[in-house]
Amino acid sequence: MTLVHNWHLGRKMEYPYFESRPKQQFAAVFNINRCIACQTCTMAHKSTWTYSKGQEYMWWNNVETKPYGGYPQFWDHKILQLLWDNGNNPMEWFTSDDDKDAVAAPYGLYNSDTIFELAQTKGLNQVAVGYIPDDKEWRFPNIYEDTASSEKTNYETEAASESSELPEHKRWFFYLQRICNHCTYPACLAACPRKAIYKRKEDGIVLIDQKRCRGYRKCVEQCPYKKPMYRGETRISEKCIACYPRVEGKDPITKGRRMEARCMAACVGKIRLNGLLTGDYTKPDPKNPLDWLIHIHRVALPLYPQFGTEPNVYYIPPRWAPRSYLRQMFGPGVEEALEKYATPSRELMAVLQLFRTTQTMFARFEIEEGKKIYETQVDGRKFEVYNDTVIGFASDGTEMVRVQVEEPTWESDEKRMVTY
Ligand code: SF4
Ligand code: SF4
Repeated sequence: MTLVHNWHLGRKMEYPYFESRPKQQFAAVFNINRCIACQTCTMAHKSTWTYSKGQEYMWWNNVETKPYGGYPQFWDHKILQLLWDNGNNPMEWFTSDDDKDAVAAPYGLYNSDTIFELAQTKGLNQVAVGYIPDDKEWRFPNIYEDTASSEKTNYETEAASESSELPEHKRWFFYLQRICNHCTYPACLAACPRKAIYKRKEDGIVLIDQKRCRGYRKCVEQCPYKKPMYRGETRISEKCIACYPRVEGKDPITKGRRMEARCMAACVGKIRLNGLLTGDYTKPDPKNPLDWLIHIHRVALPLYPQFGTEPNVYYIPPRWAPRSYLRQMFGPGVEEALEKYATPSRELMAVLQLFRTTQTMFARFEIEEGKKIYETQVDGRKFEVYNDTVIGFASDGTEMVRVQVEEPTWESDEKRMVTY
């Protein structure tokens, strides 16, 4: 084991390999508040990569309904239970100003064992704490779809009397969009005894070498997000490849420019922004939309940072869900992120317009200022909206889109209206 820095946890942690960050990191921000669970992303993935024999149950992208849903079933409950039952100070965070550092520890200090450390302290014969789901747990990509949790038990059906007001609904659910996180410290890679899994230096994408894999399923066992899947037909494991030919710009549509992955490009709800993070997290680029959302504005948060893999898919949490549940899922940055999302800054309003406007990945954004169009109070705070224009650029500097905060509309003159 070596000591590596994990900025999600605000500390060094144990990992089997040396810290080796890629030059740039494949990443995405998913805005949960906008997802409609249409599963277009899920089908875009399925029809691109896993439509063959032996891949029937493979959903590299799935959208599950929280709190009851999961694919495989109970994946997060089971990992959390393992950490809880065996951990030292299970899932404890120190979040005072003294424990924080804007760059290296923005959320404070995670004071418990990660999945890697727990395997060591307990002397388990595993690189990371994990389990192999049984066959039945892989049956439903969105089991318990739209099933809400309630302060009342679910067999008491007095839904109408329960309030659905912000900040927290009393009866609630939300959709969680999931793909492989292309982690900075992948548990799948750490666990593979054949060294068949590697993380690309140029873009941080994590791949399984299909020729080296012998189907030992250590990656299936030790990825806490359960994103590698075993294919009985070929007896090897497969996982999300981040649509790397598109990321490399091999698709002629984008003229050699980097292109969003298929699940991102297909998103109907415009909830996804896919691109590359600056490889050095200590020097985020304020003009890179992902660096800005994740490192600078900190409105997008990692999924279960306490596992310790430093996942690279980030989420804007849902405004209506109970804060304790969200803190367990996204760490202690939830309050700050929700406050920023509830009364978005001028810059955030503009950057949110970039989501799903083109298939080309943005490397840079600029904002042209417009006039004030709206003013109100939210939670006692002043909230102003300006009709700014955000401009998105590809990595070669080409301007790709120009979007205004206010959607332009046009109304026909009365005289031109024909009615029957
Ligand atoms: S999410 Fe799982 S499969 Fe993907 S890189 Fe992380 S540990 Fe590996
Ligand atoms: S396509 Fe977008 S809106 Fe539809 S389920 Fe997927 S993430 Fe949600």
